[in-house]
Amino acid sequence: MKEWQKNIRKVTPYVPGEQPKKENMIKLNTNENPYPPSPRVEEMRGQIDNLRLYPDPTVGKLVGTLAEYHGLKPEQVFVGVGSDDVLAMAFMTFFNSDKPILFPDITYSFYDVWAELYRIPYEQLPLDDSFRIVKEDYYKANGGVIFPNPNAPTAICEPVSFVEDIVKHNPDSVVIVDEAYIDFGGESCLPLTKQYDNLLVVRTFSKSRSLAGLRIGYCMGSPELIQALNDVKQSFNSYTMNQAAIELGCASVGDEPYFREHIEKIIKTREWFCGEMQKLGFSFPESKANFIFATHETLKAKYIFEEAKKRDIYVRYFDKPRIDNYLRITIGTDEEMKKLLQFLKELVNS
Ligand code: PMP
Repeated sequence: MKEWQKNIRKVTPYVPGEQPKKENMIKLNTNENPYPPSPRVEEMRGQIDNLRLYPDPTVGKLVGTLAEYHGLKPEQVFVGVGSDDVLAMAFMTFFNSDKPILFPDITYSFYDVWAELYRIPYEQLPLDDSFRIVKEDYYKANGGVIFPNPNAPTAICEPVSFVEDIVKHNPDSVVIVDEAYIDFGGESCLPLTKQYDNLLVVRTFSKSRSLAGLRIGYCMGSPELIQALNDVKQSFNSYTMNQAAIELGCASVGDEPYFREHIEKIIKTREWFCGEMQKLGFSFPESKANFIFATHETLKAKYIFEEAKKRDIYVRYFDKPRIDNYLRITIGTDEEMKKLLQFLKELVNS
């Protein structure tokens, strides 16, 4: 090995879901929204100017728009390039203890990747047999706590009282609640940030706002947490948010009726789809997300995943302990879900 090779940071990267580009495929593998973003976003697209200049490094317009939307002050909002960027920045900013940070064993699989990247000690606490977070496990000394609510890939959402209990038992750590999927029926713990200055709530435009391609995420918390994030960001890359993302993000937030209408559509499709899946012999935890986490009474998940792919139907399969007989299926349009059900019916009956 050459000398310089010894100095390369060795990391095992996060593996995102496949992004095939095929006509007529049914893509239910990365929790994207099947509907287009608000027409206001489309209208705004042609009006973006001043690309010659650097964007506002404070992202004031989008921060202000989000603060107003959530009834907060701008000092309580931080914006990034998708919630992945916000989370990566938060790991760097808040998780600097010698004690391990805590998160579930079955959860968003980027958490351990960031912990490894930044060399943060971590401990993954097992979900119980029904895939629920055991909140008492989070009462011990730690260097920080993070979990998604609803959790991914299980889709289980815990009530605010449950989250509050974990926050209450962790006055000495920053607790991050990743609410990437909260708009699909869960109750947000955002109000808790008023009481707990160590709680950070993370959101994304990628799912409920149909803007995965634009890359906007944000988080909300006490001015002290937000200031710390801004200091780290400004020490890393001043211009994370491009002009288009700032303008189009504001346009999306400005169209509340469209937002609500399309979330309701997805919830309605999910509830109908869940009933149909049960009739086919699938079971899954109750979902408050735009996906379900399903297992079949006889057919192996891996087999279903592979057979579906042959027909250009993409769902997500994780070849990992405890969850290797489950499929994470994104809720698409009614038409997409009908085609998936038709395929599953044939497979079950074959
Ligand atoms: N958190 C969770 C739980 C997720 O599932 C995802 C989607 N991969 C993200 C954060 C990141 O989403 P984005 O960077 O698109 O905001």
